[in-house]
Amino acid sequence: MSNLLDDDDALQSRAIATIRPLIPGDAKECVERAVKQFNVIAREHIRAETGLRLSDEKAKEAVGIRVVEGFPTEVARLIDRYRDQTLWRLIIAQPKLGGVVEGLGLLLAHWEEFENWLELPAVAKGSKPSLERAAQVAAALQTVAVARKVFDKIKEIREGILGLYRLGDSSVEIYWMAQALIAAMLAVRIEDLTAVTLAHELAHAYTHVGKDIDGRAWSDAAFAGSALEVKEGLAQFYTAVTARKLANRAPGVHEAYEALLERQSEPYRVHLAWLKDRPEQRGEIVRFAMLRARRLDTVDYNGWGNLLNDTRASLVGAQGQLKLS
Ligand SMILES: [Zn+2]
Repeated sequence: MSNLLDDDDALQSRAIATIRPLIPGDAKECVERAVKQFNVIAREHIRAETGLRLSDEKAKEAVGIRVVEGFPTEVARLIDRYRDQTLWRLIIAQPKLGGVVEGLGLLLAHWEEFENWLELPAVAKGSKPSLERAAQVAAALQTVAVARKVFDKIKEIREGILGLYRLGDSSVEIYWMAQALIAAMLAVRIEDLTAVTLAHELAHAYTHVGKDIDGRAWSDAAFAGSALEVKEGLAQFYTAVTARKLANRAPGVHEAYEALLERQSEPYRVHLAWLKDRPEQRGEIVRFAMLRARRLDTVDYNGWGNLLNDTRASLVGAQGQLKLS
């Protein structure tokens, strides 16, 4: 066992050494600040939406949050497979490179007009060939095959790439370096991505150990054994709700959720298809189906689909209204 742990430590150290010089120096503070800023409000939204309560809402210890160093194992492995700092610098720079290509394209499309403009700075005169060359360089760097491949590999990772919900003690870990890395890749703010991660992991905690009106939680064994699509789908469903509810005070959170979603693997996207045709009633139907799922043994994804359908049939009347008072 100790060998395995050593290997994991060594893997983390190598991944950290590759990425750390490439991310902002204050990234850790950004992540810690966002956790402080969103912890209470995210819990309030998830509690309101699920109707579930943690056993002691007042105590901060009810689902503790730790901001930790390093990366989830699969992300660390990906970084380690491409232990090439220049490659990672290029991957992180992709969104900005996109802006360069777009900006140069705009200048070039109207260059004759600029060239004849009286206000054109002297240094810019006759620079069409340089601009064309720069546009070629930026476009070439955008299409470096290995950078694209790594970008796409992120999508195949079937575990949280930013945080972790620990089943044993129902605590949450947030990887601050991963927030910085992925935020740069997605061109979103570190704080906004952290809020998304926090909401996602807290949603795991509420759906697992949150108490329903009868004081019941999801048993550890049943939660652990249920399909990834069920657990991640629920976490993502409540992350989306939370991000939407935060839209007024922090519009970037929903943008970060959307940008991340585009890069996530299937289990993190299944919720998009749930009750698409019932936007008004989705929240209640998913909530009831979730409460029913928590009372069963393990739930596979077929079983979850049936629960959604049954719940919808029993809750939605012929007129399409919810049969709830
Ligand atoms: Zn998750």
